[in-house]
Amino acid sequence: MNTKLYAENVLIGSQWKSDITLSLDASGYIESIVKGKISGSTIIKEPVIPGMPNCHSHAFQRAFAGYSEYRNFDAHGQPAKDSFWSWRDIMYRLVAKMAPQDLNAIATFLYVEMLKAGYTSVAEFHYLHHQAGGGTYNDPAEMSHQIILAAQGAGIGLTHLPVLYSYAGFGELAPSAAQGRFIHGTEQYLRLIEALHKEYHADANFKLGIAPHSLRAVSDNQLDEIVSNIRSIDSRAPIHIHIAEQIQEVEDCKSFYGSRPVEWLLNNHDLDQHWCLIHATHLSKSEQNNLSMSQAVAGICPTTEANLGDGIFPTQAFLAEGGNFAIGSDSHIAINVADEIRLLEYAQRLITHQRSVLTTIGMPSVGQYLYAKAAKDGAAAISQDVGEIAVGKRADLVVLDLENPSLYNKVGSQYLDAAIFACNQLPVKDVYVAGKKVIDNGRHLLELQANENYKKVLDGLV
Ligand SMILES: [Zn+2]
Repeated sequence: MNTKLYAENVLIGSQWKSDITLSLDASGYIESIVKGKISGSTIIKEPVIPGMPNCHSHAFQRAFAGYSEYRNFDAHGQPAKDSFWSWRDIMYRLVAKMAPQDLNAIATFLYVEMLKAGYTSVAEFHYLHHQAGGGTYNDPAEMSHQIILAAQGAGIGLTHLPVLYSYAGFGELAPSAAQGRFIHGTEQYLRLIEALHKEYHADANFKLGIAPHSLRAVSDNQLDEIVSNIRSIDSRAPIHIHIAEQIQEVEDCKSFYGSRPVEWLLNNHDLDQHWCLIHATHLSKSEQNNLSMSQAVAGICPTTEANLGDGIFPTQAFLAEGGNFAIGSDSHIAINVADEIRLLEYAQRLITHQRSVLTTIGMPSVGQYLYAKAAKDGAAAISQDVGEIAVGKRADLVVLDLENPSLYNKVGSQYLDAAIFACNQLPVKDVYVAGKKVIDNGRHLLELQANENYKKVLDGLV
């Protein structure tokens, strides 16, 4: 049945329009947008905005959030140097125990949380492929199936990005035992991609892409091979890679390839808007210029990058040059769209000693500008027709909660400015994915069961 949604106020492009009916086709895509109310429409009185794509997720890491916010001291009372790398060691210990049904329970819980927060699609950068010890499951795609089932159950759009992870470091360094569950050779990886493409390509809320883990974890030949393979299957398939999160990683890349990681990638591959460079944190000026020109998307994960002490992405300069960016919740220390956007802006304020930094002359409201841009660029990064309320786009919609006192008396762009900066989290009332209501008055049908299942997993893992 075709759905009609009538909105009293809706964000279309950068303009708030009133008295609008969206007509959807049977798959939940917007067929027409017309002024006025069409009979039979579902009436939405609160402001409607596009749902936010989450460009970067490692679902299993949600179970680890909150367990590593402490510092070790040695026998002399000296603090240990705590960093990304020590966090990673603890994360590996958790991963060692995780079974397929555990991953399903964590991902279901997480995807319900995401929908409640206003994320309507997610790119899952999936590297937990094998059994503990590294042996493959009877079905080598077992863990991918669990992620896909979780997304379908929760009702979130999924871009699935199986990760190719072959080495522990530059120069084809052999992986450690702790990395056994992540590791593929190229042939085995391409068979996984082929199997997933065959099984799921007809699902309208699903997109398959690839994720070479990082320049340190795959060789240049592997990268060439998997990029040309996926491009032969789908010219719009997203390609995501961790690129320059850590200074050590940049230095290692310079030693091995003689250039910085983003520079190397730009010189060796034809980047476009379906490439997403996750944590392009440490950029030289020329890398920043060339990356913005390439139209590849910088995948920024502000709360995770702050939590891990990674560094600050040069957002002001990058956006001023026309660069594209998306936001991701990555390690899931926070599932909070407003937090990601607020932190992006506040980091720039703290550096520049100014207010309202990330804006344009056409859209001076920071909250609305950043939200709309992250949604639109994020859709390109995950290669789904979402991120805007427009004809041909999927009806992934968030309805703001006007009962929230912080939205009182707001109009137009003030809705998103207040939602981002003054509401702690996005005040979400209802959420639609492909025109289907998945969050109703702040609640998801599965949430109580998902919470219980998640807690059981934590009992077994931690
Ligand atoms: Zn990541």
